[in-house]
Amino acid sequence: MGTLAGKTALVTGGSRGIGRAIAERLAADGALVAVHYGRNTAAADDVVAAIRAEGGHAFTVHAELGRPGDVETLWDGYDRQVLQNSEQAGLDILVNNAGITPRGEIEETSPEAFDEAVAVNMRAPFFLTQQALKRLHDGGRIINVSSGATRIALTDIIAYAMTKGAVDAFTLTLAKALGSRGITVNSVAPGIIDTDMNASWLRGNEAAEQSAAELSALGRVGRPEDVADVVAFLASDDARWVTGQVLDATGGSQL
Ligand code: NAD
Repeated sequence: MGTLAGKTALVTGGSRGIGRAIAERLAADGALVAVHYGRNTAAADDVVAAIRAEGGHAFTVHAELGRPGDVETLWDGYDRQVLQNSEQAGLDILVNNAGITPRGEIEETSPEAFDEAVAVNMRAPFFLTQQALKRLHDGGRIINVSSGATRIALTDIIAYAMTKGAVDAFTLTLAKALGSRGITVNSVAPGIIDTDMNASWLRGNEAAEQSAAELSALGRVGRPEDVADVVAFLASDDARWVTGQVLDATGGSQL
């Protein structure tokens, strides 16, 4: 029996990239996983099918984050489906993973791009978590996916870095606020990971791949599983005494 057997997890942005790897890993560890997605129903269905093919348990939840009513839509869908898939309501593990990366130096960043990043990367996890607290069992886990870009200065993603810095501040403060319920709150901060988010500038561009690999002390670009394994640790009982922390999964990119 997996270490997360009997637990229920929600992974936002679980239909691809890092979120997909997290959803698959938590399911492999025995959790029932709600795979949240924004637009791509087929991709989310594919993740659920892959999990079920391995003997795991999962279902999809839809909501386009950063839009009016997003949080209500997500939790309505979740509450309905969790009872169809499990004997108990509520939630044990929330992974705030969904995010967007507007690219541009400070001079090139439009107010619209900035506001969208704030809406998806900051506002959505804040209010999603606020509503999660009504469902999260005592002893639960909140894991926020932030970014190594809060500590490695990459000037062409400056607005993104700012939103992710806010996520880490949220982690710190929320950990204190929820400690009395035995709920831990941590951030995982990935370095450059080979996902669709980075496809346009990374894949097939040898020079970009090489400089991304050289940024890490371990000499390669990260994989979604490199992040998912850290999330799995934070979700596990082994991490019961870890809270309010930002764990780097950057391959040592800031060294
Ligand atoms: P990705 O673009 O491949 O996946 C992002 C996921 O979030 C997708 O499933 C997407 O549908 C979802 N999402 C985005 N906007 C949404 C919205 N408005 N409503 C609903 N869903 C939405 O990206 P990824 O690389 O897998 O990134 C996952 C997380 O990791 C993000 O928070 C990202 O900022 C963070 N991160 C990624 C890297 C990297 O190099 N890939 C590095 C550091 C941090």
